[in-house]
Amino acid sequence: MNSDLPGFYKMGLEDRLNEIKKIAHLTDEETNSLRTGGINWQTADLMIENVIGTTKMPIGIATYFTINKKDYVIPMAIEEPSVIAAASHAAKLARQGGGFTATSTEPMMIGQIQVIGIDDIRYAEKMVLANANNIKKIANKNDSTLIKLGGGAKGVETKILETERGRMLIVHLLVDVRDAMGANAVNTMCESVAPYIEELTGGKTRLKIISNLAVKRTVKAKAVWKKTVVGADVIDGILDAYAFAKADPYRCATNNKGCMNGIDAVMISTGNDFRAIEAGAHAFAALNGYKPLVKYELKEDDLVGTIELPMAVGIVGGTTKTNPIARIALKILGIKTARELGEIAACVGLANNFAALRAMVTDGIQKGHMKLHAKNIAITAGAKDTDVYVVAQKMAAEGNVSVSRATELLKELQREETEKTGNE
Ligand code: NAD
Repeated sequence: MNSDLPGFYKMGLEDRLNEIKKIAHLTDEETNSLRTGGINWQTADLMIENVIGTTKMPIGIATYFTINKKDYVIPMAIEEPSVIAAASHAAKLARQGGGFTATSTEPMMIGQIQVIGIDDIRYAEKMVLANANNIKKIANKNDSTLIKLGGGAKGVETKILETERGRMLIVHLLVDVRDAMGANAVNTMCESVAPYIEELTGGKTRLKIISNLAVKRTVKAKAVWKKTVVGADVIDGILDAYAFAKADPYRCATNNKGCMNGIDAVMISTGNDFRAIEAGAHAFAALNGYKPLVKYELKEDDLVGTIELPMAVGIVGGTTKTNPIARIALKILGIKTARELGEIAACVGLANNFAALRAMVTDGIQKGHMKLHAKNIAITAGAKDTDVYVVAQKMAAEGNVSVSRATELLKELQREETEKTGNE
């Protein structure tokens, strides 16, 4: 499979879908699902509460990605224009530096059990650690599937917290969740070990819940943007932008949002819990004062970008099987493990951050963005059918993409139309 697909963006909708159908060996039913949208009304009623309908989001394909020497076409679900174009462009430029490389840890999640009201907290801590094997055994009784797959509770850690409500013992249950996101699996295990922990400590357990700050389940991804490809000015500009984000949380929040544009889009297309990923990413970025998720450095005149963040993603469990589009997205990616999905998402986050910074240190972000956003502006102004394209193209050509200009152009079009009808 080759993700180097020049002209993919210029294809008509059907041709584009057919290209992906060929690449990913999609069935007619799957391509039809992509055309008509995923979760049906009745299924939605089984998924959440008080259902009245469903909503849809566009899915586009990011091209040019090569990760660990393997090419991917990446489905991204997002309502914001220019994110997919930006990711693809950054990937195209990175391709000339060898593409992306990514590594990840084992899928180890942390479950937290909060214990309060302990008389001798140091002794209680010792008791928990001395009986770690028993705690793991109790936890592992809950999930024979996970155990069969080589996962399950693997470790117990403790810490004592001084809080405004007094001292607390916090027990961390480390669970290898294999290809699941893991929240349900971990929460069940935490609840099941709580009575035994109360017995060991003489305290009372309160919260028993997964931590989204998944520091033991992280991905690191890297790309090199060569000076000969992107130019010395762009590299210099990006290093300045990076220094700005490192020094200023106001800038850093937006910088990191740029990474999450791409990561969330991959999460949504594959049916993952993007709130969990968001929470983990920002908490991780804030561990030592809020910092950029992507670091940049100069190596032999080239720009090296590295992203590192927690990546609690699943390809089983949650709603990954209930949502037909999520299954199709995983098929398009052609992946077999949650780790591979996490590595892909991190690369997309890195690409989106690079692309946003590159745009800002060259033309400014609005030039390209507003061109791609022009169709939405035309629709906001009330344009329909082919008028959307006509108004959007005119605004893009004029370099004036605004609702007021779209309204004027629409009025002009309607006047021309009336004149034509009047003449006939
Ligand atoms: P789950 O319980 O639906 O599925 C996971 C289970 O699938 C495992 O326990 C295992 O028994 C089985 N399984 C089969 N094949 C597997 C494989 N190859 N690898 C791993 N497990 C396999 O889902 P989950 O992943 O435990 O929980 C995810 C859901 O929890 C998401 O929908 C998320 O939104 C929700 N959630 C999140 C939070 C949070 O992030 N704070 C809290 C509560 C719930």
